[in-house]
Order: sequence, then structure tokens, then C-alpha cells
Amino acid sequence: MKGFWLLLVLVAAAQAEKVFIGDQVIRINVESEEQIQLLQALEREQDWELDFWLHPVSTELPVDIRVPYSSLSAVKDYLSAHNIPFSVMINNLQELLDEEKSEMEENQMRERGTGGFNFGAYHPLETIYSWMDTLVAEHPNLITKVEIGRSYENRPMFVLKFSTGGNKRPAIWIDTGIHSREWVSQATGVWTANKIAADYGTDASLTSLLKTMDIYMLILANPDGYVYTHTSDRMWRKTRSRNPGSMCRGVDPNRNWDAGFSGPGASNKPCSDSYHGPSAHSEVEVKNVVNLIKSHGNFKSFISVHAYSQLLMYPYGYNCRDVSHQRELDSIGRAAVQKLTSLYGTRYKVGSICKIIYQASGGSIDWSYNLGIKYSFAFELRDTGRYGFILPANQIIPTASETWLALKHIMEYVRDHPY
Ligand SMILES: [Zn+2]
Repeated sequence: MKGFWLLLVLVAAAQAEKVFIGDQVIRINVESEEQIQLLQALEREQDWELDFWLHPVSTELPVDIRVPYSSLSAVKDYLSAHNIPFSVMINNLQELLDEEKSEMEENQMRERGTGGFNFGAYHPLETIYSWMDTLVAEHPNLITKVEIGRSYENRPMFVLKFSTGGNKRPAIWIDTGIHSREWVSQATGVWTANKIAADYGTDASLTSLLKTMDIYMLILANPDGYVYTHTSDRMWRKTRSRNPGSMCRGVDPNRNWDAGFSGPGASNKPCSDSYHGPSAHSEVEVKNVVNLIKSHGNFKSFISVHAYSQLLMYPYGYNCRDVSHQRELDSIGRAAVQKLTSLYGTRYKVGSICKIIYQASGGSIDWSYNLGIKYSFAFELRDTGRYGFILPANQIIPTASETWLALKHIMEYVRDHPY
């Protein structure tokens, strides 16, 4: 009997959703190389269970840390002792999460009532998947849904293929949500797919693009992680694969690509949020994309969408050398961002991953670039840290709308510069 109750408690604990009551997100505007080193030492301090939303890498960028309530005083003492000023960006993370959840529930009720789909709301995986079917059904001559494989937990991975005919036309790849907690990324993917469907036939430029090219969109690039952020841990970033010999699950799917694999900026520790995994393409979610891109063989652009920080980046991440098309990629990026900013004034930085954030190996756009897909870009969407990963749903449509201008610029450039 005792064993039964213990089991029940364990099951309940395993199913409970992680709470973040009193957790704070603090920001440090790093002023010196010494401070960076002190913060890197903090990052190695595993007992405090800190979650670095932005890592200490350069004096150009702030450092954002989610500090569990139980570690708050220790961390603040550490910072004060070393004369490192900080500010509190989010005072009680759980409050924001409760708000986000109740908004989602209210929206779900409204959608059930009207039978509609609100693009200005966050949705669980099932809702996004059934919305995809509706979109495909409404645009049968433009869109097909392609299952590119299954996730670790056996969920289908669906790509929306926008095509007006032909066979393996030059194509553009867009993936969103490879890091599951970056919810505005997946939501932007949904809005964007709908936008392409709606504008085809009315927007002359997009229509001409789709006359010669195809667009592939993978909206839930990490489906297991995405479900986990809804059911168990809103802050989950990685895949959900088991790591032999470790209690910690998951691999960072954007450190898992065969491009400088296991180099700087990735961790070899399974419990780390940037764990690169046992081998390149070990994650089936990554492998499925690799297989599709390689077997297709005619992708001309590869775009990965993340959040947050407001950056538009090109290769490389795994080293700081200029790629051979650096000047061209930089000028495309700058023009794209100019368009983005024109809508609401949102400011973006442009540069190589290594130079504007940090050296990070095993990233998707380094892999695609090395495969010969010249126009490889990665976005970090809104915001710059006020809400970080918990961007309020009322910013989804503005974010997606401004991002669309940049995406469209890149796609038009690719159309007009065949290679
Ligand atoms: Zn990311």
C-alpha cells in the first residue's frame, strides 16, 4: 500500500506543471571583460539553477538571467559583492505566465464559439495542426501539407509547401519554433503562412515569386518541446530525447547540426540548455529537415526564426571568419531590416551570428550555408528583453507584420538573383 501511494505521488509530481512563483528575470548591462568572466563563473554554478536568457559574451549586449526564487538572495549578494549593477526586468515570472495562460483559455473559448482562428493568440499544437488542415483545404491549388517525419515522441512534423506547379523548383525554406519556448516564433510562422495564402493572386510581387519558386514552411520545428512548454515547463527550449546516463532530457536542436559540431558555444553536458547532443543530427527533428533539404537539392534560401533580441543574422556562428558572401548577405540584411523598421520603428541589428551575438557551433544556418544555400539567415524577433520569451499575445500580429516585410525583401532578392 505504501508503495502505491509513493507511486501516486511520483506520478502526480511527474505530471505537475512547473511553477515559477517569485522567479525574477534580472538584467545586467555588462561594462567590462572582468564582469563577463564573473558572470560566466555564475553560469557554471549549477546549484543555483540559473536560466540564462541572454548569455554573458560581450559588453555590447545585456545579460538576462531567470533566477529561481530560492536563489535570488544568493545571486544578488554575488552581484553586489562584485559591484555588478543589475535591474529587475520581470519581478514575478509566474504572474506573467498566469496572465498568458488565462488569455489563452479565454481565446480558446471564443474560438470554439465562433469557429474562427485568432492569429493574435498563442495556440497549442493540436490547434495549429488542425488550422493547417483548414488552410490547405481553403487553398488546395497552392498549399500541400507534407509530413517530413516524426519527432522523438512520435508526433508528425508537417511542412506547408506553397507551390504553383513544376518539379523541385528553386525553393525557400522557413522554420519557426526550433527552440520551443520562443513562442512568438511559431505564432509568426502561423501568421506568415496565412499571409502568403491570402496575398497570392492579389500581391503582384508574391504572385510572381510563386510562379517560379516554392516556399516551404516548418512551423513547429520542435513539436515535442512545444507541447512540453504548454503542459509542463513553459521555459523548455530543447528537444525531449532521453540522454543515456543522465536524468536530464533533451538536446539543443540548434547546436545539433553538422557545422562546427561540438565546438565553442555549445555544451557537452546533457543538463545544459545548449547541450549539442551525442553526435551531429542525433535529433530526429533535425535529421528530418536535413533529409528533406538534401533530397530536394534545390533550396536557394534557408531562414530560421527565433526570439528574442531583434537581430537579423547570417553565417557563421561557429567561427568569426567572414563568409565569402559576407558583403552581399550584410547588404540584403540591412535592406530587409530597413523595411521591417518602416512599419512600427522596431530597431534591429544586422551581422554574423558570431559577431553580433556569440560564437555558437552546430547552428542550422551554418549548416545550410555550407551545403551551398547562399541566402541563409536567422531572425531573433521581438522584444529586447522587457518580456523576453513571454511576449504578450497582443504583440504577435505587429511582430509578424513587420517581420513579413523583411522576409518578403529576402525572398524577392532571392527570386531576382538566381544562382
Ligand atoms: Zn532560439
